[in-house]
Parts: sequence; structure tokens; C-alpha cells
Amino acid sequence: MRKDKIISKFSNSLLFGWWGLWLILLLASPISGTTSSWGDSLIVSLSKKPEYLKRLQPYSLDYLLEWENKIYLVVNPQELQLLQNLDIPFSLENFEPANNPDSPGSIQTSLNGAYHSYAELEADLFNLEETHPECCLLVNLGQSVEGRNIYALKISDNPALEENEPGVVFLGCHHAREWISVEVPFLLAKYLVEHYQRDPSIQKLVDRSEIWIIPLVNPDGLEYSIYFYRYWRKNRRNLGHGLFGVDLNRNYDYQWGRDDIGSSPDPSSNVYRGPSPFSEPESQAIKKFMELHPHLKALVSYHSYSQVILYPWGYTNKPSHLDDLLRFLASTMSQKMKAVFGTKYSYGQSGASFYLTNGDTTDWALGKFGIPAFTIELPPIDRFRGGFFNAEADIQKIFQENLPAALFLIDWAIQGQTAFTSPSCSWWLKNRNIGESPITH
Ligand SMILES: [Zn+2]
Repeated sequence: MRKDKIISKFSNSLLFGWWGLWLILLLASPISGTTSSWGDSLIVSLSKKPEYLKRLQPYSLDYLLEWENKIYLVVNPQELQLLQNLDIPFSLENFEPANNPDSPGSIQTSLNGAYHSYAELEADLFNLEETHPECCLLVNLGQSVEGRNIYALKISDNPALEENEPGVVFLGCHHAREWISVEVPFLLAKYLVEHYQRDPSIQKLVDRSEIWIIPLVNPDGLEYSIYFYRYWRKNRRNLGHGLFGVDLNRNYDYQWGRDDIGSSPDPSSNVYRGPSPFSEPESQAIKKFMELHPHLKALVSYHSYSQVILYPWGYTNKPSHLDDLLRFLASTMSQKMKAVFGTKYSYGQSGASFYLTNGDTTDWALGKFGIPAFTIELPPIDRFRGGFFNAEADIQKIFQENLPAALFLIDWAIQGQTAFTSPSCSWWLKNRNIGESPITH
């Protein structure tokens, strides 16, 4: 793959605007290198010389990738100054927008390109509700630390009524920098709503279930990631001492803070779990929502990146009581994803095959509500194929390959246990060691 093609996957068109914004902020800034919470960044490259690496070794820097004997770093103003102080020559990288022949000109509407900002998502959700009141209803679950709304779109027949129908909830963007995790659940909502009256199979699913889409759990973080620091992960809780943010996906109360491997007690950590379980309004909003909807049968929480489907437990490598069912559902979803464009999503128990986490959404959903819950880590597979920077032109493709898996899970929720005890399922249980093995990295 050519370098410019790879680089374009890291960038999107937004970095042009972002780069300019940073320079403006730097010029306008009265603080000139005295604070670490400023957080605006640039991408620079430097030659991969051993002497430079040795000089950089004592410092914790954000390494983006290595390519053709160059190292690419994401740096804030202080780190830029550090490179100068260490006498390490570097070049500012001028990233080109993704050049995809299928989407000429690329879409450039704002700093975040084709990705949704908070305001853009809000407008699109209101629009869905306004144009399709027969099958959807927009609900405000609560407000973030900075006062933004956390929206849920309910999709069902008679959407204003609480009916005794099985539900599935799809969540997006616990982590600010994982922009694609907003788009997949939003596009799922859009697809269901727009196909309700013209596709009998979708109408059948929607009529028999209550589908909830919560595409943006962390609105403050997303905004910060768009306008200030692309790599921001946590929410925007002011922790004092110049520190910000709790990792919302470590703030749920099931096995919260069980150890310091699966989450951190350190406020400066990117996986800081907060001072107490559900200390954050964003996770509290999800808690209240789940408690109000006892008919939910399954939960999906979209993240990026890695192309894996993870299921509980995350806090331990021991399997849960539902391990066979979770594995069946994950393997079926993986097969359905692969059938679309051939993209392989591995699957496995989170704590046994990925890394330990405690206080996450899916352990809580299984531990407190007893329902199957999945973290779907969307593409790309690794940082060398784009990491958090999916090209805008790939948004639709990633949604399309995830759609059949989401529809399958809704269908499974409607059919309930009968699907799991069907003949094909029994066959699968007997033969479950055949086929793709779980991830090992
Ligand atoms: Zn994540």
C-alpha cells in the first residue's frame, strides 16, 4: 500500500482544519508551554535514528506509526518544544484528505468531516423522529458533565408506548476518539427507520421488538476530540490539578475497581475509573435507562479499533455462566460480518483473550441484568491500518458489514431461548471447537 494511502487513513480531511486551528490557538495562546492540559496536537515525523530514539526514551510520547524509516508522533506544544530542546529535527506532516474514487472530492463539512459532531447528531436524530414518527421516538436520558444531552432513539411500532416486547440496546462512543462508534449505531437507527415501511422483514423485526439506539454516551469527550485533542478518550470531568476525565467504560459498578490492572485509581490515567461507581452523569444515564427497561434482552456497545467481538467477563479470565450462549451469538455475528465484504472480526471472552477490564458496560449488563452483552471493536484491525482514524469513505462500508449482525441479534432477542435450543444450535454446541478460534492477542 502506498504511503499516502496509509497516511490518508490516519488523517481524514479534518487534520487540515485542525492543524490550522492549532496554529491559530498557539499564536493566540498566552500560556506558551506552561500547562499540560492544553492538549492540542500536531503530527510530526522524524528520522528513526538510534541516537534520537535514545534521547526520546525517558519521555512518554504518543507514537502513531513507523513508516519507511521514519517515526510519526502526535505531539502537543510542550512536546514540540521538547523535540527542539533535545535537538531532534522533525517535519510537520501535511496530511492529504482520503482520496477514494468511490467518493470523489471526499466529504468535508467541518473539522470532523463526514463524522457527526454533537450538534450534527442531535439535528439528525430530531430529523429521524420528525420524518418517521410512526416508528421512532427520541428520548433524552440525561445530561453530561458539561450539560449536553444524552439521546436515545427508540424504534418500535407504537414508539410512545412501553410494550411487553423484547428489547435490544446499541450504544456508541463511550470513548471520545472512537468516532466510528457513533456512526455505526446512528446508521443502524437510520436504516431501520427508513426501511420500516418499505421492507417487510425490517417491519417484522421492528414491530415485534423495542430497539434502542444511544449513539453518543460521551458527548463532551467527542466535542473535545473534534476541536482540541483528537486522541481524547475519557469524559470531561474536571478532576482538579489540571487533570480531566473519567473513563466511562470503567465506571459501571459490577466488579468496579476489582484490581488496578483492569482499571486505574490514578486520575491522570486514560483508564481512570472515577472516585466511585457511577460517579459520572453519563454512566448514570445508562444505568437509569437500563433499570427502566426490564424487557431488554441484549446489549451491544460499539468501540474501535481491533475488529473483535468481545463478551464478558472482562474482569477475569474465568468464563461466565452464559459462556456457551455468548460464544454462539458472537460467532454467528462474526460469520455474518465476514459474509458481507470478507472482513474478519475475531471473537472471544474479553478477559481471557483480550485484556482485563473492570467496571465496563458489558460485565455490568451481564452481571446485573443477566443479558448477553458485547463490545464490538470496529475496524481497522490495528493502528497501522488507521487506528482511530478511519477514512470518511469507509464509514458506510463498516456500517454495512455490521448491519446483518445487529439484525441477527434483534431477531435472536425476539425468538429468545428457542433460537438457542434449535437443532442448528445444538449442532453448533457439539461442534463449537470447529471453525475460527478466538483471538489470542
Ligand atoms: Zn473504546
